[in-house]
Amino acid sequence: MPAAGSATPRAIALVAAGLATCALLAVVAGAVFPQAPRDGHPGGFQASEAAIGSAALSHPSDTVLRVTFLDVGQGDAVLLQAPEGQTALVDAGRYDVVPLLTEMGVERIDLLVATHPHADHIGGMARVIESMPVRFYMDNGDPHSTATYRRLLGALDARPEITYLEALPRTISLGSADIEVLPLLPRGTTDHNNRSVALVVRFGSFTAFLSGDSEIRQLTDLVGRGVVPRMTLLKAPHHGSDNGFTPGFLRTGRPEVVVISVGRNSHGHPRPAALSAYAGGGARVFRTDIDGHVAIQGYRDGGYGVAHGQQLASLRTEGTGDRDRVRVGEAVGPAAVVGGGAAAATGAGVRVSVHADAPGDDHRNLNGEYAVLQNQGSRGLAIGGWTLCDGASHCFRFPAGAVLEAGGTVVVYTGSGRPDGERYYMGMGRAVWNNNGDTATLRDGTGVTVAVFRY
Ligand SMILES: [Zn+2]
Repeated sequence: MPAAGSATPRAIALVAAGLATCALLAVVAGAVFPQAPRDGHPGGFQASEAAIGSAALSHPSDTVLRVTFLDVGQGDAVLLQAPEGQTALVDAGRYDVVPLLTEMGVERIDLLVATHPHADHIGGMARVIESMPVRFYMDNGDPHSTATYRRLLGALDARPEITYLEALPRTISLGSADIEVLPLLPRGTTDHNNRSVALVVRFGSFTAFLSGDSEIRQLTDLVGRGVVPRMTLLKAPHHGSDNGFTPGFLRTGRPEVVVISVGRNSHGHPRPAALSAYAGGGARVFRTDIDGHVAIQGYRDGGYGVAHGQQLASLRTEGTGDRDRVRVGEAVGPAAVVGGGAAAATGAGVRVSVHADAPGDDHRNLNGEYAVLQNQGSRGLAIGGWTLCDGASHCFRFPAGAVLEAGGTVVVYTGSGRPDGERYYMGMGRAVWNNNGDTATLRDGTGVTVAVFRY
C-alpha cells in the first residue's frame, strides 16, 4: 500500500471491503454484480470479485479479447481490451505511453495495474492518470523510495475518484473477460520483483498469464499453490531473464505464445537460456525489441491471432481477421503408452495444433510453419511409427524410439533440420499446411486415429 499521501486511508477501506464481502466491494466500485466470494486459493485467502461492466464502449465490435504488448523499450506496458470495450493497462513503461494509447484510440482506462514499483513498469503511469479517466488502480501495496514512485502517488492523490484495489486474490470482470489476481508472497519476505502482481486473464478458453518481473522464487510459489493454469499466452516474466522462468512453471503453463517485452538493456535480457526454454516448449516467441508492438487477439475457443509491427493502427486492422488464427485440436482417440505395450487404449490426451502461416513467404520459410503435439496425459507416449498428415496426405512418420513425454511437447517443422527428440522435420521442399484451413490427422503405429485437428 502506498506509504504516503491521502491514498492511504482510501486504500485501507477498500482492502477491508475486498476481504470482507464482495457485495461491499461491488457497491464501492459502483457496479453491483453480486457473486459469492470464491475460495480455492490455498493459504486461507478468499477471492472476492469486482466487476467492470459499464465502461464507455469505444469499440463494441467483435468477440475478441485484445492483448497488446506496447513496444516501450526496456519495460512493460500491456493493454487488455475486452470485447465490450473495457480496458486494463498492466504497467506503463518507463516513459510516456499516452501517445501510444491515443494512437490505439484508448480514451479511458478501467483498470490500471502497477505490478511492482520499478521505474520500467511505473515510469509512465503518472502521465496516464493525469491524461485520461481511470476507474481502478491496483498495486501490491509495497512502497518504494524513488522519485518516480512518489510522482505516481502524487498523481493518484490528485485523482480521489480513482478506486484503489490492493492486489489480493480476487477476480475482476473486465467486460466478458475475467482477470484473476493470484496470491503474493508475504510482504517483507522477498524483493520487489518477486512480489509482482500476477494476473491470469481468461476469455473463454483463451488464457493469458502476466506477472511483471517475477523470478524463480515467486514462480515456484505459484506453481506450488496450484494456481498456474495451462496458458495460451505468457508474458515472459522479467523481460526474458534467465531467472524469469523455471522448467516446472513452463511445464505447468505450457504457453503457446510467449511475448518478451524488452529493449536495449545492460542485463543481457532476453537470456539465451530463456529463449531456448520457451522455444523448446513449442511456443511461438515474439520480442518487442525485434517485432515492435505485439498484438494478440484471443478467441473464446482458445484460438488466437498475432499481429506485430511498428504501427499500432495497422495492427488493429490486420489483427481482426483470421489470417494468423490458430486453433487447438482435441484428442479423439486412444494412444499408446510408453512401457504399456503398443496402442494401449488409455484415452491419453494429445493435442495437436498447427502454425500454418510462417513469417514471410511460407514456401521460403519452411520451418516457420510447424505442427505441435502436446501430451496432456500423465504418462509418456511411444510415438515411433505414428504419422502426422495434412489434408492432402503429406505425411510425416515419427522415427522408432520417438517419445512424447508426459506433459511434454514435440514440434514437427515442415522443412529440414536435425531431429533432437523434441524437434522433428518433415523434410518437405514446399509448405504443406494450408493457411486458409487444413486438417491435421495424428495416427498411431497401427493406423488408429489419435487426434484430428481442423482449422
Ligand atoms: Zn522490469
